[in-house]
Amino acid sequence: MQKLLIANRGEIALRILRACRELGIKTVAVYSEADRNLKHVLLADESVCIGPAASKDSYLNMPAIISAAEVTGADAIHPGYGFLSENADFAERVEKSGFTFVGPHADTIRIMGDKVEAIKAMQEAGVPCVPGSGGPLNNDAATNIALAEKIGYPVIIKAAGGGGGRGMRVVRAEGELVSSIETTQAEAEAAFGNGMVYMEKFLETPRHVEIQVMADEHGNAIHLGERDCSMQRRHQKVIEEAPAPGITEKQRAEIGAVCVEACKRINYRGAGTFEFLYQDGRFYFIEMNTRIQVEHPVTELITGIDLVATQLKVASGERLPWKQEDIQIRGHAIECRINAEHPRTFLPSPGKVTRFHVAGGPGVRVDSHVYRDYVVPPYYDAMIGKLICHGDSRDAALARMRTALDEVVLEGIQSNIPLHREILQDRGFSNGGVTIHYLEQELLTHQ
Ligand code: ADP
Repeated sequence: MQKLLIANRGEIALRILRACRELGIKTVAVYSEADRNLKHVLLADESVCIGPAASKDSYLNMPAIISAAEVTGADAIHPGYGFLSENADFAERVEKSGFTFVGPHADTIRIMGDKVEAIKAMQEAGVPCVPGSGGPLNNDAATNIALAEKIGYPVIIKAAGGGGGRGMRVVRAEGELVSSIETTQAEAEAAFGNGMVYMEKFLETPRHVEIQVMADEHGNAIHLGERDCSMQRRHQKVIEEAPAPGITEKQRAEIGAVCVEACKRINYRGAGTFEFLYQDGRFYFIEMNTRIQVEHPVTELITGIDLVATQLKVASGERLPWKQEDIQIRGHAIECRINAEHPRTFLPSPGKVTRFHVAGGPGVRVDSHVYRDYVVPPYYDAMIGKLICHGDSRDAALARMRTALDEVVLEGIQSNIPLHREILQDRGFSNGGVTIHYLEQELLTHQ
């Protein structure tokens, strides 16, 4: 790989640019008309404006991105996360146009993008899934009532094509079942153009625990341990950490081995994440993300492995340089997502950053494209950076994060830093192992 086009924006585009610099790969930034002043655009070897501010006209505009790769002579495209990163058609078009797609094969993305197909593939590969229909629901009321009875209430109806926490409905009693299925089908059809829905047991008190994997083209795969991302609001992760509190080495090895085996069976390539709900000591697969994730730095800090650089290397056809036994977990890492939003109402707060001092010191990492006088545009995701702290133990990492959060100065826009400070002072969080409902049901309701 000589020259990489970064088909994304914000902190992840900068993260990818940094990895390229270290590896001696030239970079092409593509940006929308609202993003001329993005840090990675200013740092890239070349940059191309690909359209107006609206994502659909720029970061989701496949022909514009592919022609930018053509005119600049790039040989590979990294999709980052969000935008086109899990779009199988894009991966296919990139490869058909003669570029390397930094990610798995298009058919893998396609299977994992359909939750019913993904669950089928995972069940075949021996990955533990949530008890459920195992396939799409038909419209036969009697069959569905019998199925829900067998699974046991509460159940959750989920759209096969759903994403971003949308297209789901919890059903607590038989009387609501038939109408809930119909409503979810209609909503899914309208939102995702795919009315197919399936049924799962609804877990009441799960944690979100996910396994990071990495695979090369030569049939090698490893896992890099787990992350706990249970601190969520509206199914959006707020804080992530690694390792997950209370998960034993034996559990990690077992679920990790299952994921590695699944990667080999589905011919997986690149970085990926198996997301699980974890309850009563058991893992239940919910979905696979076929891309780098926002929270990848916590894994980097505890393993010492650069996941983005590894993505680039395996995309170039290199072999994974590690065997599973080479992967050692050291200490504990925590990440706070910094969003430009009101800390209580969560309303987005775009605008000019008039002051910005980041935190520093041992074990502190800041991944952010923000600088003083940078104007946060209103068109995209509110996340403007990540503060990540590493320590020898979970307590040490927490203490470091509290110190770092107190040190950050961000003025001109509102941010969720005050919320992070509160969470870091909370006893339940400090004890570790809270459920995915904790933030919304315990912390945010008590003020
Ligand atoms: P999406 O692709 O929209 O993120 P997921 O299948 O990953 O959808 O589910 C998103 C979230 O919904 C999960 O993190 C969890 O909070 C909740 N959820 C999904 N399935 C279940 C289930 N069977 N039981 C309880 N909660 C669930």
